[in-house]
Amino acid sequence: KVRVRFAPSPTGGLHLGGVRTVLYNYLFAKKHGGDFVLRIEDTDQTRFVPGAEEYIYETLEWCGLRPDESPRHGGPFAPYRQSERKLRYRQYADQLVAAGQAYYAFDTAEELDAMRQRLRTEENPTPQYDHTVRMQMRNSLSLSESETKALLDAGTPHVVRIKMPQGETLTFTDMIRGEVSFDTSVVDDKVLLKADGMPTYHLAVVVDDQQMEITHAFRGEEWLPSAPVHVLLWRYLFGKDQMPQWAHLPLILGPSGKLSKRDGAKYGFPVFAANWTDPKSGELTEGFRERGFLPEAFVNLLAMLGWNNGTEQELFSLEELVQEFDIAKVHKGGAKFDFDKAKWFNHEWIKKQDAAVYAPQVKAFFAAHGVTITDDAHFITILNLVKDRCTLLADFWEQSSFFFQAPQSIDTAPILAKWNEAKTVFFQSFAQSLNAATEWNAAALEALFKQQATDAGIKPGELQLPLRIMLVGGKFGPPVFDIATLIGKEATVARIESALK
Ligand code: GLU
Repeated sequence: KVRVRFAPSPTGGLHLGGVRTVLYNYLFAKKHGGDFVLRIEDTDQTRFVPGAEEYIYETLEWCGLRPDESPRHGGPFAPYRQSERKLRYRQYADQLVAAGQAYYAFDTAEELDAMRQRLRTEENPTPQYDHTVRMQMRNSLSLSESETKALLDAGTPHVVRIKMPQGETLTFTDMIRGEVSFDTSVVDDKVLLKADGMPTYHLAVVVDDQQMEITHAFRGEEWLPSAPVHVLLWRYLFGKDQMPQWAHLPLILGPSGKLSKRDGAKYGFPVFAANWTDPKSGELTEGFRERGFLPEAFVNLLAMLGWNNGTEQELFSLEELVQEFDIAKVHKGGAKFDFDKAKWFNHEWIKKQDAAVYAPQVKAFFAAHGVTITDDAHFITILNLVKDRCTLLADFWEQSSFFFQAPQSIDTAPILAKWNEAKTVFFQSFAQSLNAATEWNAAALEALFKQQATDAGIKPGELQLPLRIMLVGGKFGPPVFDIATLIGKEATVARIESALK
């Protein structure tokens, strides 16, 4: 059975790239009738950020990407938080040491610093703990067996490091890149188990992927350099043929290379799925959700960042994506993110769906402006009437607030030059006729308006814009008689009269 996992470290908000990794995991799992596991990789407690895990659930829920198993949803392989699995890793580290594939290292922070100082050169600004220095350090390879035993018996703090072989070529097949090879000599002796008994990411990811029976692992391409360590650990601990199939997903690029928080601020687009407030700095980074994106559009645009089904089709629902998704069609190169294109997706999804789907979200925007919606059916009718003019959910306010309150100000500039007494007279009497009108629908109002304009000897076309401006405050909005119909007799008459004052 296909089993995939999204394995974030709870170190901050989920940005575009993170959610795309979730999405590709999800699509692949669902396409193959498999399970999608969410595992929290929280072994680096120095980078732990409160609230980050909650944020992940909230984001996944908003996107409609429900995990089958997670710390919150439970599942047969619980616990799904690595910190709660701490006791499971030590035995594997010891097993590797016993087999001569890893070793205990007792070096203190000062000793490590001294080594880096000593070896630092211009060509090698960040010296690594690797085969070139390992015999000069304090570890179970350089010390005698009895020295090592004495240190261990005395409870000396130590880590376990992998002993990277020299001059071997490690190869594996990536689902996106094909065959990938590494020279093991250039990889350092990564720490597998820390002094506090916590595994590092490298050991934990391999042990957990095996124990959770993961068959396919999708992760960002920034993890590619770690792959040789993982391939070795798989070979040592479980056999290479048990290893999941890897897919390293290309980066999402911003206008200036790798997409970063700074790009977001600079170019005015959010990089996070939902608003993220860094608890340390208190700094708020805007999210797509709060910017007024629909989850359908967000998921759709993410899917298209680095994938397409080989046709011109761009709009896909989540169900369609599940049908169509093919990991072999994911591009190797980085995908360029374009905010205008993202907005295009949102506009399409706003138009495509009945406003009833997103009315609750739009309501929240209205509430923020102090307008409480009481009649849902009326609200939805109005949203459907103006949705073609909206790109972000926030636009609904500007496009339709006049249905719910009189315009705060009236922009008369477009009609001032051609205004005359005859027009004032026309509108005074039109307001009176409206008051007396018995039929209140767009067709009847338009007929009344045209008749009365003709009687006054003014072209109806010259009076339409003034009427619109009186009702909505400016030169925008849906057909003017639809507006009058929906706001009702009292408001229509009141707005005309107040504009004439
Ligand atoms: N914990 C890693 C991260 O935060 C997961 C990498 C992987 O999926 O193997 O991205």
